[in-house]
Amino acid sequence: MHNAAIAHLGVDYAYLPFLVQANSLKQAIEGFAAIGLQGFNITIPHKQAIIPLLADIDPIAQAIGAVNTVWRTEKGWKGTNTDVAGFLHPLTLLARDWSQTTAVILGNGGAARAVVAGCMQLGCAAIQVIGRDAQKLENFLHSWVGFSRSAKVEVYTWSALPHLLPQAGLLVNTTPIGMSSHEARSPLTSKETDGLAPNVIAYDLIYTPSPTVFLQQAVDRGAIAIDGLEMLLQQGAAALEIWLQQPAPVEVMRRSLKQQLGIA
Ligand code: NAP
Repeated sequence: MHNAAIAHLGVDYAYLPFLVQANSLKQAIEGFAAIGLQGFNITIPHKQAIIPLLADIDPIAQAIGAVNTVWRTEKGWKGTNTDVAGFLHPLTLLARDWSQTTAVILGNGGAARAVVAGCMQLGCAAIQVIGRDAQKLENFLHSWVGFSRSAKVEVYTWSALPHLLPQAGLLVNTTPIGMSSHEARSPLTSKETDGLAPNVIAYDLIYTPSPTVFLQQAVDRGAIAIDGLEMLLQQGAAALEIWLQQPAPVEVMRRSLKQQLGIA
């Protein structure tokens, strides 16, 4: 989708993949600087490890503790995380007041961190994160101390889900349950689905298949459903805008992304 945008804009750039081993990250970004790269995305397993190697990171990346987009500045490489902007894009189109909304987030991995930061930006009343490992949940909660002035972040294990679902105004699946590899599964049992508020916004970060079983269950209950395609698209568009300092041709990128993913 980046190269489709670059071709459409007629600018002299290329977006290329590089496989970088964990012990070569420092050398790789020094090399990127030496050959004059404009910027780059960075993904698993380097999203946290790159932070001490950068000259600067912005407050969003600081809060999330992970960087996905890096660009050149006079002082050196600067990092941000465009997953938050990507996650928020379809929600801001709904033009709602989120101040009374409780967000329930399924999963407490890397993407959940961007979702929590996004829910804080929306101004949600409460952010309830569900995980399966009590120690990971405790660490997750602790990492938001100092960042959670507006919304209350709470953590729960899955057994609390039936009690939390009826109050959820925004329900986000950040687990891989329902992805192509385990397509027929949902993070919710059908009994739990019965507890969903009818006007809940169900958001699945997964983009294939679409809809996932989770989104289909929610739609059957009258929910508004959002899949992960727009987040993927918008985080990429936001990165391209940082590098090129001009608006990204989002429609061109959407078409290319759908084509790549084999979505009509
Ligand atoms: P991650 O860091 O591995 O986190 C996954 C989370 O899901 C962890 O909390 C994990 O729990 C939990 N989990 C995994 N399997 C589970 C199961 N069977 N039951 C209960 N919990 C389970 O992965 P991630 O980077 O956050 O990505 C998560 C999903 O979001 C993936 O499907 C990814 O494709 C999607 N994603 C989409 C976008 C987009 O742009 N649309 C962006 C980022 C990610 P433990 O910690 O206990 O293992």
